[in-house]
Amino acid sequence: RGPSREELLEGLNEPQRAAVVHEGAPLLVVAGAGSGKTRVLTRRIAWLISERRAHPGSILAITFTNKAAAEMKERVEDLVGKRARIMWVSTFHSACVRILRKEIDKFGFKSNFSIYDAADQKRLMALVAKDLDLDPKRYQPNALLHWVSNHKNELRDAEEATKDAHNKLEETYAAAYTLYQRRLTEANALDFDDLIMMTVHLFQQFPEVRETYRRRFRHVLVDEYQDTNHAQYALIHQLCADQMEEPVAAGDEPQERVEPAELMVVGDADQSIYAFRGANIRNILDFEQDFPNATSILLEQNYRSTQTILNAANSVIGHNKGRKPKRLWSEAGDGERIVGYVADDEHDEARFVSEEIDKLTDEGAHKAADVAVFYRTNAQSRVFEEVFIRTGQPYKVVGGVRFYERREVRDALAYLRMLVNPADQVSLRRILNTPKRGIGDRAVECVQALAERERLTFWEALRRADDAPGLATRSLTNIRGFVAMVEELQSMVDAGERADVVLESVLSRSGYLAELEASDDPQDETRVENLAELVAVAREFSDDPVAGPSADPSDVDAGQVAPGLSDFLERVALVADTDQIPDDDAGVVTLMTLHTAKGLEFPVVFLTGLEDGVFPHARALGDQPELEEERRLAYVGVTRARERLYISRAVVRSAWGAPSHNPGSRFLDELPIDLVDWRRTEASQTRWGRPDLSGSVRMGEPTAAGRRNFSSAALRADAASKAKPARAIPSLEPGDRVIHDSFGMGTVVALEGVAEKAVASIDFGSEGVKRLLLRYAPVEKL
Ligand code: ATP
Ligand code: MG
Repeated sequence: RGPSREELLEGLNEPQRAAVVHEGAPLLVVAGAGSGKTRVLTRRIAWLISERRAHPGSILAITFTNKAAAEMKERVEDLVGKRARIMWVSTFHSACVRILRKEIDKFGFKSNFSIYDAADQKRLMALVAKDLDLDPKRYQPNALLHWVSNHKNELRDAEEATKDAHNKLEETYAAAYTLYQRRLTEANALDFDDLIMMTVHLFQQFPEVRETYRRRFRHVLVDEYQDTNHAQYALIHQLCADQMEEPVAAGDEPQERVEPAELMVVGDADQSIYAFRGANIRNILDFEQDFPNATSILLEQNYRSTQTILNAANSVIGHNKGRKPKRLWSEAGDGERIVGYVADDEHDEARFVSEEIDKLTDEGAHKAADVAVFYRTNAQSRVFEEVFIRTGQPYKVVGGVRFYERREVRDALAYLRMLVNPADQVSLRRILNTPKRGIGDRAVECVQALAERERLTFWEALRRADDAPGLATRSLTNIRGFVAMVEELQSMVDAGERADVVLESVLSRSGYLAELEASDDPQDETRVENLAELVAVAREFSDDPVAGPSADPSDVDAGQVAPGLSDFLERVALVADTDQIPDDDAGVVTLMTLHTAKGLEFPVVFLTGLEDGVFPHARALGDQPELEEERRLAYVGVTRARERLYISRAVVRSAWGAPSHNPGSRFLDELPIDLVDWRRTEASQTRWGRPDLSGSVRMGEPTAAGRRNFSSAALRADAASKAKPARAIPSLEPGDRVIHDSFGMGTVVALEGVAEKAVASIDFGSEGVKRLLLRYAPVEKL
């Protein structure tokens, strides 16, 4: 028995209900932050399944992150039960990967293609630039990639880019695009932008494929629609718009026309903050033109924030031109005033934040997990981290140098990717001589030459290294050894071995782990721990693949056996920044950039670094459209707060090593004065006097010295935690008390495996139950 109508519509206001039960024409829900757009979208899915008997498999919902997708799925399952599991709730990228895995052979790719992330792309583009003899100062890989990405987001392939090149510079860029694309194809790899572009091209060039998906997806729902780019828009259009009659090739049976899917998009033009990635605010503004007969619903009541916070948000965003004015209101009452603080420098700002958090948690008004600290750029997190390390406040940085970007993790993944897809040249070259096995640049060049002459992939050429002229005997021996190792590991993969088992074999067989373990460098010990963590991730995945966002139970039903290594790699490739936010971790403060904060909410928000040149970003100061985008970012930041908002800036901030003085952010002047309770203003700073406004200021000695002591203390603490001697595998029994370097005290609840393979499940209380490979895990028996 499903939920009743009343249950499904409970806790919704009139316009929200109208959106949930809407039938037929494309529906646009535009509304300010916190007005329940995401809630409405989620409820509508439940409503479709429950009341309108839509098959869950006919629903495609798009969210901005995998984490948001997982939450939405969970919420719908709570409402209508497990059968909802087979619906597609995912990011654009994940949805496209799933389509391409089935269909990409039509473009001559193999379905086990790799997905290149930013770092892979950069490596590949650097190789391309070298091959084209481009001056690395004039043509930086990142600039080339940005140009390529823009083209892909506009659905323009390398051929078109070449045709449209009007001057030498553009011709060079187009040549780089062409070669980059050829190398990707050779490597059987796609980058993130390709995922979308290829899917659109697939639908355009193979109408029968498109019709298959049009028949399948009867309901398409998109959250955060304001941040879709042209390619994403085109994808939705392919699925949901009336299609013109296709020119049918002679002899083809005329296709039966499929009625377009019902479409619902929700968004807020004031929260469009991804223009630099090609997001096109026009997609939302022009919805009614793009989908004639569309219905629009406006939501105005905000359920997230106090009226004070909303007034601040309304006032700031009101300074943008050419927007539809809207007034957000709330029944939550005025609440607390906004607290402002002008700090001496960034350390003082971080100290202020830390002390305020202490006060809030000591009073019992909030727990640490209620608190988020936002900043404009990733690098700003470090100062907060230092203070939190010193005061012992647990914290979590979302984004920044992520786990999956650490060197050792990338190396391990490169091994795995190369096993699944030997044509993946970037991965193969990354690990060919890592750890060092005597295959140097000279040898690589000889093999490369053979590959080019014989039109082989790099891997095929390695296997035929005997034929490579000029290869030293020692190199040849080493290459043979490498090839034998890889083939042995590949046979495990072919036999369908679990991802964690393959990974462990890779780490030991390659000598990678042994090299780290033999090292005296304390950092290498941390690396071993990170690899242990990766093994644990792989194991968790192998044990329960369905729990994750990119798993497709309908595929599993369709006869696919246990998830293999490639499923694991796909999952890892699609992990997004926000996926790392810990769940129900009461003691942990969250740090993140404003961009990452989209769609989230926190009872307490610290908006830091409000200085012209920091936020708004220096790049935007003389540029009206960019400045407006920064202002939307400020609007996003302010509207994340439910109860309390703190704003702060530093008079002096060191950037690139030199202290610089930035005036207060212009966004501060755009806040109504009466909303802010300034705890400390510039004029009240008597310790150092008013800083010299004419330019950069030298720091007063006491602060500089304090900072030195302080950072070295943080460093010492850090080094101490890393410089532990290597330990033997502890012998444990269920019930034993243990201590773990990062999770603290715990109790062993279960054990599996023996010796090297011993795994313990340990309950760390508020940290949850962790499965740890004892060989690597920093645990000690108490
Ligand atoms: P954003 O623009 O930031 O993505 P949003 O419009 O998607 O915001 P939601 O996140 O869906 O807003 O909702 C904001 C908060 O208000 C959530 O905590 C949600 O549960 C709550 N909420 C939404 N609608 C109602 C309602 N009718 N009654 C009570 N609470 C509501
Ligand atoms: Mg939302």
